[in-house]
Amino acid sequence: MTTIIKETLMPTYARLPVTFARGQGAVLFDTEGKEYLDAVAGVAVCSLGHARPEVAAAICEQAQRLIHTSNLYQIENQQALGARLCALAGMDNAFFCNSGAEANEAAIKIARLYGHNKGIECPVIIVMSNAFHGRTMATVTATGNPKAQAGFGPLLAGFVRVQYGEAEAVAQQLATDPNIVAVLVEPVQGEGGVQIPSADYLPRLRELCDQYDCLLITDEIQTGMCRTGKWFAFQHTGIQPDVMTLAKALGNGMPIGACLARGKAASVFGYGNHGSTFGGNPLACRAGLAVVEVMEQEQLAQRATELGEYFLTGFRTGLAEVAGVKEVRGKGLMIGIQLERDCGELVKQGLAKGILINVTAGNVIRLLPPLVITQQQADQIITTVIDLIRDFL
Ligand SMILES: *Cc1c(COP(=O)(O)O)cnc(C)c1O
Repeated sequence: MTTIIKETLMPTYARLPVTFARGQGAVLFDTEGKEYLDAVAGVAVCSLGHARPEVAAAICEQAQRLIHTSNLYQIENQQALGARLCALAGMDNAFFCNSGAEANEAAIKIARLYGHNKGIECPVIIVMSNAFHGRTMATVTATGNPKAQAGFGPLLAGFVRVQYGEAEAVAQQLATDPNIVAVLVEPVQGEGGVQIPSADYLPRLRELCDQYDCLLITDEIQTGMCRTGKWFAFQHTGIQPDVMTLAKALGNGMPIGACLARGKAASVFGYGNHGSTFGGNPLACRAGLAVVEVMEQEQLAQRATELGEYFLTGFRTGLAEVAGVKEVRGKGLMIGIQLERDCGELVKQGLAKGILINVTAGNVIRLLPPLVITQQQADQIITTVIDLIRDFL
């Protein structure tokens, strides 16, 4: 394997000793030519698979014509992508940025300004235990992982944390704190360990936000773009959020994030309230448009539902008699296998067997394969992961 020039990169990542040279669909090839089956997809980013021809062609064509002009001018691709996403999500308008954390920053600023506009001087946002919202100062404050926050104090004021999945904890906060302006929540927690709340959780949060005139913000950065079997995970519940954030799969690897708003939340930002130099540039939005088109044409939400069921059945059957497996759960192609003990070393063992998997929250094997994965590749993942777990336990 090639050596990485480590000394000039800040050591913020525990990188595996492998360098990928190219990919195709759900398969990656390292610099030695060894083949890997990818069940991580760049952390839920490359949902259409690697080197997707339609996306590559759209990027190439756009790059040869126009990459960037700035938001000083009209941008056709940005308007078109905003319209497509709003139609799919039932939202009214969009702000484009370059990452998930930035999308959440926009959402947090909308929530604060919404509060200020109604006379709340110190607005507070309710966030959840084990949440992940990003690594900027505001989003790391919203994130519920003390390790991510350690050493970066003072964190931002204006956040209060309650237990994920417990709507009544939110109700209690709302009843006691008149400064609350928003509830920020992942429909399914990703980094938190593929945690799936009960079906009435989001509807109850919706009710509470209506009752107390607060904004319901769903962070769909990981769950959005067909990953859980709907375009957006909130669509499993029949409710609409006021604000929704996207990134990850939106560009299939081209950096792009979006914050969508609806109703009263859609009229909060005015001229001068927010901005981004790169945000929504012609190139990134062209990639986003290509992604939306392919997802629609190939009905990938439905595919995620069907394959998700297939994975769950495969794992539940194959692991039924294996002691030390706590739970197999998932929503579409966001799959978690929770073991009774920490299992981070499985990632390396998977790599040796030619399969890329992820472990999060210590003891949860998380699988986020490309949505275009074949059933044969799914079988290969199921078999290999079951073998890995059996050998480990
Ligand atoms: C990945 C992720 C983020 C952060 O996105 P970045 O692009 O890394 O800033 C925020 N929220 C959720 C739910 C995520 O999965």
